[in-house]
Amino acid sequence: MRRAKFVTAGLCLCLLGVTIGLGQGTNKRQEVTTANRHVHQERLWATLQKLGEFGKNPEGGVSRVGFTDADLAGRVYAMGLMQEAGLEVRVDPAGNIFGRRPGSQNLPLLLFGSHIDSVPHGGNYDGDVGSLGAIEVVRALNEQHLTTRHPLEVVLWTNEEGGRFYSGLFGSSAAAGVLPSDIAARRDDKGEKLSDWLTRIGGDASRIAEAKIEHGHVAGYLELHIEQGANLDEAKVPIGVVTGIVGISLRACTATGFANHAGTTPMNRRKDALAAASKAVLAVRDEVRAETGRQVGTVGWMKIEPGASNVIPGKVTFPVELRDLDADKINRIAERVLQRFDAISREENVEISCTQPDLHLPALTAPSFQEAVRASAHEAGLETLDLPSGAGHDAQNAARFAPVGMIFVPSRGGISHSPLEYTSPEQAANGAEVLYRTLLKLDAQLDPRSPH
Ligand SMILES: [Zn+2]
Repeated sequence: MRRAKFVTAGLCLCLLGVTIGLGQGTNKRQEVTTANRHVHQERLWATLQKLGEFGKNPEGGVSRVGFTDADLAGRVYAMGLMQEAGLEVRVDPAGNIFGRRPGSQNLPLLLFGSHIDSVPHGGNYDGDVGSLGAIEVVRALNEQHLTTRHPLEVVLWTNEEGGRFYSGLFGSSAAAGVLPSDIAARRDDKGEKLSDWLTRIGGDASRIAEAKIEHGHVAGYLELHIEQGANLDEAKVPIGVVTGIVGISLRACTATGFANHAGTTPMNRRKDALAAASKAVLAVRDEVRAETGRQVGTVGWMKIEPGASNVIPGKVTFPVELRDLDADKINRIAERVLQRFDAISREENVEISCTQPDLHLPALTAPSFQEAVRASAHEAGLETLDLPSGAGHDAQNAARFAPVGMIFVPSRGGISHSPLEYTSPEQAANGAEVLYRTLLKLDAQLDPRSPH
């Protein structure tokens, strides 16, 4: 039911323009001064730099892939920060780290956070700004001697980038109850077991179903994140109000022909898997372009076998990845792509087959949460831009059990998943300040009639 509602709303919002909002009728951007900041820019920056030591690369940035020693060390550091901020820290069976701060009333909790794992050769800001920004918010609340009505929990989700064992959003998929049933038995290509890694990080593969968060347990989920695109940087706007997060459908496809001698096999007697796969790549692009909207489709790599200049390729494997805010549109395009693959199979005398998709459903953020983010930014003297997220985030899984909101801060040049990724100390602190204010706003607005 809930899913259907999101999709319907997605249709209305499918042409998400970008809208710049200015605070309180003023057309002049107020300077952000320490007077209207509750979070500490230097303190937040110092923790970001320190976290960047774990998995640090000589070329800059980090390789802190989920379920690796570097990730484990980063988690220990972050848990220490959470404890220093007075949070009661626990790790769930999926390895997600939660830090609790009690509220004054018996209400569902407000959950906020991000992830601290990275892609290989990634940057210092993807996930880290939102995770350490969330912990900075708790330190600021402590300094203001504020107790919220709702209990607060900071969450650091496990293996968001999907470096090992799973395609991404691992921890939040467990919380949403959408992990595949074979997950605990998975091994990587080195033969290492996911279950062993879960034990090492404080989780428990045999109890992973218990990581599911039921409806009603969480009043709302907020995530601060770098944009990973260039909209905010180009518009010179410090805060993005995220309207929705795209869904991602990923299939593994194989073109199977016949490997044969490149000199002796006449052109009309070939079953050239690479020729067929090449047509398939263009078919994906054509079908994605055939509709208006912001949907995207990508074939990101190919493996050609046997892979010799004098042998006709016998087998080609490649992924087909589709993204959009509207799940129906993704399915519709996927269907047309598969029909085109059937036609190419016949034309080229090569069999093209694809697996069922790994699917991360799209999610829209709650309009009331968008408004809370917008108003919080304006009150802090920060302009906002409404925009969708083309990257996947844990918030889309959280949307399965609670209303969600997301705050974006700029990525210099729109660069991410790279050592060149950069968000300035001021931009990171702006995001944390907006997170602080949004949390307090939602704490006041949500569950107005408390049972006590
Ligand atoms: Zn991220």
